[in-house]
Amino acid sequence: MEFPITVVGSANVDMIMQVERFPAPGETVSDGQFSQAFGGKGANQAVAAARAGGRVAFLGCVGADAFGEAILENLRRDGIFTEPVVKSVSEPTGIAMILINKQGENCIAAAPGANNALTSAHIESYAAFLKRSRMVVIQAEIPRIAVEKTFEVLADSETAILFNFAPIRKEAPKLSPRITYLVVNETEAAYLSGVQVGTFREAEQAARILRRQGPQNVLLTLGANGVWVETPQGGFHAPALPVQAIDTTAAGDVFCGAFATATTQGQPIHEAVHFACAAAALCVTRLGAQPSIPYREEVETLLKQQSPCS
Ligand code: AMP
Repeated sequence: MEFPITVVGSANVDMIMQVERFPAPGETVSDGQFSQAFGGKGANQAVAAARAGGRVAFLGCVGADAFGEAILENLRRDGIFTEPVVKSVSEPTGIAMILINKQGENCIAAAPGANNALTSAHIESYAAFLKRSRMVVIQAEIPRIAVEKTFEVLADSETAILFNFAPIRKEAPKLSPRITYLVVNETEAAYLSGVQVGTFREAEQAARILRRQGPQNVLLTLGANGVWVETPQGGFHAPALPVQAIDTTAAGDVFCGAFATATTQGQPIHEAVHFACAAAALCVTRLGAQPSIPYREEVETLLKQQSPCS
């Protein structure tokens, strides 16, 4: 079976506890409300692409433990093909411990575990599979060497690469001309280009500098201000859809996943960006990461409501 989109990336279990207030060092607070959720940028983007209507495979690394099994089951619920996921026998599944206080502030400690055990040898063993995808979507929450190996194995293929340079880390992968779409937010763009992005003019300037570093197209997401897109034919601004935002968690991941689906289904870049903005807009109207990722019908309904002809 062919999968037009393969997401290479991280998967985590989020252990969330809502507390009245954060404990001080050495203190115990015992009024917590516990919940478990699935996260990790790679898994979020795979779910976003699948719910947007794409056929998606996921390549990542989880631990040989109950959390790893739960991640796989969760991905399969969205129809994602998980055979390329490797199970590490030495590292546990990636976990994020999230405390949320009464004011809604959070305090997060993450242990990447198995995400850091994804090797270039594993990527290499899936080279033929990756080359059969129309697009490979990848982020920086896995080892740099795995990201760079993915660029390398796809060097002589027709497969498009969407690289989401997130999160910022010291051992960041090098930008490559093999990147078809580089997706960055304002902070990541400033880090890579040296331009603080506060205006559309600065967004354009930063995106142009980034294109000169290799990527063919740069999509600079600007939160409620939409996206600046820089292509070989020139730049354009795509506005965000006007919504009441309550939680922007995973907005960037939804943007990437929905854009990948729209593009691999043949939409031109203007339309694919508009579709991705609509999916991300729905995401920010809901709480949480994966529970807030919209389905294709919801995105289409929002787009119809926004259309001047409706
Ligand atoms: P960000 O990672 O914050 O730049 O957000 C990614 C994308 O999500 C943006 O390009 C927008 O399309 C969408 N988005 C983020 N915040 C909002 C918002 N407050 N209202 C509407 N769309 C948003």
